Amino acid sequence: MLKLDKTWALFLDRDGVINRRLPGAYVRNWEEFQWLPGTLKAIAGLTQRTGRAFVVTNQQGVGKGLMAEEDLARIHARMLRQIKDAGGRIDAVYYCPDLASSVPNCRKPGPAMALQARKEFPEVEFQRSVMVGDSLSDMQFGQVLGMYNVLIATKEEELTAIRKEEKKDLRINARHPSLHDFYLSLAG
Ligand SMILES: [Mg+2]
Repeated sequence: MLKLDKTWALFLDRDGVINRRLPGAYVRNWEEFQWLPGTLKAIAGLTQRTGRAFVVTNQQGVGKGLMAEEDLARIHARMLRQIKDAGGRIDAVYYCPDLASSVPNCRKPGPAMALQARKEFPEVEFQRSVMVGDSLSDMQFGQVLGMYNVLIATKEEELTAIRKEEKKDLRINARHPSLHDFYLSLAG
């Protein structure tokens, strides 16, 4: 069973893990950002146990011109403020504005955002890192880096894609309905 301590780092996907994923749309402003239930408490509890904590998020709405990097910065500033007020701590938010079609790009499942985190926080060890996500690309990102992969419940079509990859070599270490449930599973 996973036992987190200060030698561990936590990598959190954003949409579908921290805030509600908007079907077919991007969260473009704070009004569209909805915390998932129990998230603030879970982030506080998890980040009090771990040494470092990051958000790693693909945001190609920027690359598509549907939102500006400043919009994203405003959302993240408010998100971080509320996390801090709730007793949590995120060391950095990494986002990839690239289009999925641009090559190369920094998007998950590519490791670019994790490599950036380790560059800025050299104490981060991927073998002692947890990736929490709700997409196939999150799980592939975690696996390629050797992280402990936690899948949060997701939409059916994503699950279908995930199951298909699990028949090959995709490895998921734990599954939970929400970030809050993952946090509760570690308690005690
Ligand atoms: Mg997601």
